[in-house]
Amino acid sequence: MPAAPLKTRERLSEVRYEIRGELARRARELEVQGRTLIKLNIGNPGAFGFRAPAHLQRAIVDGIDQTDPYTHQQGLPEAREAVAAHYKARGTPHVTPERVFIGNGVSELIDLSLRALLNPGDEVLLPSPDYPLWSAATILNDGRPVYYRCLPSNGFLPDPDEIEALVSSRTRAIVLINPNNPTGANYPRELIERIVAIAERHGLLLLCDEIYDAILYDDAAFQPIAPLAGDVPCLSFSGLSKVHRACGWRVGWAVLSGDPMRVGAFHHAMDLLGALRLCANVPGQFAVQAALQGDDTIGALCAPGGRLHEARRAVVDAVAASPHLALVTPDAALYAFPSVVGEAAEGFDDHRFALELLESEDVLVVPGSSFNVPYRNHFRVTLLPPPEQLREVFERIDRVLDRMAGA
Ligand code: PLP
Repeated sequence: MPAAPLKTRERLSEVRYEIRGELARRARELEVQGRTLIKLNIGNPGAFGFRAPAHLQRAIVDGIDQTDPYTHQQGLPEAREAVAAHYKARGTPHVTPERVFIGNGVSELIDLSLRALLNPGDEVLLPSPDYPLWSAATILNDGRPVYYRCLPSNGFLPDPDEIEALVSSRTRAIVLINPNNPTGANYPRELIERIVAIAERHGLLLLCDEIYDAILYDDAAFQPIAPLAGDVPCLSFSGLSKVHRACGWRVGWAVLSGDPMRVGAFHHAMDLLGALRLCANVPGQFAVQAALQGDDTIGALCAPGGRLHEARRAVVDAVAASPHLALVTPDAALYAFPSVVGEAAEGFDDHRFALELLESEDVLVVPGSSFNVPYRNHFRVTLLPPPEQLREVFERIDRVLDRMAGA
């Protein structure tokens, strides 16, 4: 008798990560057949010709002969000191190197933090749209995602009254992704203050994914959450992947702030879970100090004339010229999240559109519903390609939408 197929974890059926899912697999098949695709599905700077700054590369090369041993589970002391100093300088309260955790990217730390926090059935308030790892990690750590809406009609900003109305006796944390992936929204101070007050009133942890904290356009200013949170427990995440264009090095950090009496047990849980996986990739940790104490290299890319600024302008202009598209202009981060409007929007299905765009125009985008929204008329592109390539992409998108509109 043939052996039964292996069973897998049941709750995986609730988990989706379509940024690298079915469409990406189809794209790979087309590439194997010899097609040349423009792949806008992943915010992967290195894939679009961006390099990590030379002083970060040098820090790894200079440190390489010291990278053989495991480090402490929370990370290399020099790296943690640099992170602590950086967060202290921006006004984060109660920060010491002991409260810094270095991980294999923010991804690993998101998972660790939810594993440290949740018991079965606990609820986590998540933005909709979200970066889908947050939903996945909540589910796989036995939690329940409860979504608060960030609607395009409100510039993709959340409504604090709605967040508070969703708090239940099972709620443990509020996740904020600011600046936001996929929308590019950048939250103003007053909004953050209101959300901090909700966390304070209900005894919740603030999980602040700030991985795009220095990728800002025009006059956008980043407001870190922890400095406004005072004694409210807060875990702030960032890393080398985006601002420092070093995704492949797999280095992220999380900084714990808030009243020591309230965060002690959580700190211990994070430390224990960190110890179980021994330590983060060591060579990459050698670049953290250089990244946080060296020259700012992202500012010029986001300023007028800079590659990201001009890419964003190309997208904004292309959407303005399209009869089929609308866009909340992204203030920050590496993405645009346009919607389909007008005749093409009738009966529109974001997955069908993305598949058609891939098959007929060799362009890969991510359907909006992959980001845990109930509507199906958005899609996400990354702003990483050169502006001229983005202009070409939007011509191809318009061609598909023309056909869908029956024009
Ligand atoms: N958080 C957000 C909002 C992201 O967009 C990403 C990656 O795209 C991550 C976390 C994961 O980043 P890392 O490369 O540090 O694991």
